[in-house]
Amino acid sequence: MMLKPGATIGILGGGQLGRMLAIAAARLGFHCHIYCPEAGSPAFEVARAHTVAAYEDEAALAEFASQVDVVTLEFENVPVAALRFVASRVPVAPSADALEIAQDRLAEKTFATKLGLGTAPFADVPDAVALEAGIARIGTPAILKTRRFGYDGKGQVKIMASGEASQALADLRGAPAILEGFVRFSREVSVVAARKADGAFEPFDVTENEHRNHILDRSVAPAQVSQATRDKAIAAARAIGDGLGYVGTFAVEFFVVGDEVIVNEIAPRVHNSGHWTLDGAITCQFEQHIRAIAGWPLGNPARIAHVEMLNLVGEGTARWEALAAEPSTKIHLYGKAEIRAGRKMGHATRLRFPT
Ligand code: AMP
Repeated sequence: MMLKPGATIGILGGGQLGRMLAIAAARLGFHCHIYCPEAGSPAFEVARAHTVAAYEDEAALAEFASQVDVVTLEFENVPVAALRFVASRVPVAPSADALEIAQDRLAEKTFATKLGLGTAPFADVPDAVALEAGIARIGTPAILKTRRFGYDGKGQVKIMASGEASQALADLRGAPAILEGFVRFSREVSVVAARKADGAFEPFDVTENEHRNHILDRSVAPAQVSQATRDKAIAAARAIGDGLGYVGTFAVEFFVVGDEVIVNEIAPRVHNSGHWTLDGAITCQFEQHIRAIAGWPLGNPARIAHVEMLNLVGEGTARWEALAAEPSTKIHLYGKAEIRAGRKMGHATRLRFPT
């Protein structure tokens, strides 16, 4: 199936990722209908239609599904039940099964392990007894993370010694959790790639990521890693995409240890570490996603410059003015009215030639 220009793409989630997806879709002649529980969401401004309703509201979901030709998502914490409900009425990409694995850290790590990929040592932690057993096996330091709904470091507690276990568990307020051994990595990198239903796969260049306060601060492409590491990261992302039968753009975050890559997280959506592709690649991650879910051929993901992406977060957003004065820097602001600590307000991409 190839979706024709003039068709309507439904997007679950209305944040900046939905906004940039809608802009890319509009460039290809599609309309977008955004479904998001929060009024005034950043994507509404750039889409033809929007619905403000809860993900549990089946009447609203049914009405939304009746108005669109395909449904996708920009936010991995969309309840799987909402996506399954919509999928019974209209094609969806990625699938609810892929979302279900990628939104649960335990399912994700189990899946990666079955594919033969390296992960941090991990243990399922449904309760305090399991946590003690996990610490005994994995040791400290370790990180206790909620299985679901974590992002930007939320829902994570570091455990430096076994005596801290009960406090760590209390901090997560009874949420199902996973214990991960602490990985002493040299770098963090990610692969953002697009995959189509027929298995076509186009990765962007491996990107190096630096976090500040658990939030992505800066990405650089190409990552300063060996060709062997690059190849392993892309092969791992491909195996994950194939294993999930994934359709659309997705990201895999890795820790680099020596020449090896260790899977940290799978994002079933376009990803912050791929924002540089808007200005630094022939086809950006947002257009690739729209192409993949519309059944179009994927575009060329080749990088056209050396790129540095800077996130504009919270009070740091004020940098936009100085960055706007740099001639080869592109500014992207998400139209969010209120600056809050840790809130992603925009990003800038510094381009340097040659590549
Ligand atoms: P996550 O939400 O799982 O992506 O974790 C956020 C950040 O915390 C990662 O990008 C790493 O910098 C750090 N981190 C998470 N898990 C581990 C781990 N098992 N070992 C070392 N650092 C970690």
